[in-house]
Amino acid sequence: MSTIFSKIRDKEIPAEFLYEDEEIFAIKDIMPQANIHILIIPKKDIPTLNDITKSDTQLLGKMMLVASQLAQHFGIQDSGYRLVMNCNGDGGQTVFQLHLHLLGGEPLRGSFGN
Ligand code: AMP
Repeated sequence: MSTIFSKIRDKEIPAEFLYEDEEIFAIKDIMPQANIHILIIPKKDIPTLNDITKSDTQLLGKMMLVASQLAQHFGIQDSGYRLVMNCNGDGGQTVFQLHLHLLGGEPLRGSFGN
């Protein structure tokens, strides 16, 4: 299925690529929710987290690695950051191409689990 992210991946829509390899790319979020808000996106068509299979585990791990490297690149590794992956309606997913949000550069509100 075509999405805004598959069009960016295919260079049909312009975007500033912060990272790109054969499997993953990263762009700045167009409506940032924090000073730093980056999206890490697999090139493979995967609509939601429900659609991953065992064969995607390395890809998912690489997305985390790229997020960590981008956090270091933008100098927020010590101040801290948050990774978010939304799934379907209640999760707040609006673009149905799997993506990981990297948020930081300021204190983030609404932490979970404490
Ligand atoms: P989600 O709600 O988890 O599906 O996140 C989708 C994100 O994509 C939102 O934070 C949007 O601001 C962002 N977004 C939508 N269109 C674009 C675009 N053309 N370039 C960059 N980010 C976008």
